[in-house]
Amino acid sequence: MLPRIVVMGRPNVGKSTLFNRLAGRRIAIVDDTPGVTRDRKEVVARVAGRDVLLVDTAGLEEAPPDTIPGRMRASSEAALRDADLILFVVDVRTGLTPSDRAFAQWLRRQGKPVLVLANKAEGRLGAANSLEVYELGLGAPLPVSGEHGDGFGELHDEIREAL
Ligand code: GDP
Ligand code: MG
Repeated sequence: MLPRIVVMGRPNVGKSTLFNRLAGRRIAIVDDTPGVTRDRKEVVARVAGRDVLLVDTAGLEEAPPDTIPGRMRASSEAALRDADLILFVVDVRTGLTPSDRAFAQWLRRQGKPVLVLANKAEGRLGAANSLEVYELGLGAPLPVSGEHGDGFGELHDEIREAL
């Protein structure tokens, strides 16, 4: 079985952008429903020198399960169940939101290995704004930019160590 790496976080923090950069040249799309961006996407990709199953999820939202955000959350929870490593993404440009904090708290209870990615940290803004992400209690945040590729060398290193 391939190690399963799941990208999670609230909507718009940059999960899909990060997922696409990490996936690079896709080996195989396992599950990709065209035109339905809310759905989970899974690809087999070469990450940190090995084949992994990389899973993009819809944004985590706190809402009842009969709403669209609620179903997105249910889908994320299902994705987490078989995960070997969670990439929990936050946005350092907006800063931490109550939703980030709530889900970090929920994630801490799941007992899965989590790497916290302080995303959108390109340029001078990056490292400084990543500091508040320590507050989530999920370990040292790694400043990255899914859009520009900053921090991806370190990201591959940390994934290699975590798997
Ligand atoms: P998702 O909803 O978490 O999957 O987020 P997306 O990947 O769809 O990105 C949401 C928005 O954030 C888009 O407008 C992206 O262009 C923007 N974005 C994604 N990554 C970065 C980044 O590294 N830096 C900046 N400045 N913007 C980003
Ligand atoms: Mg997305």
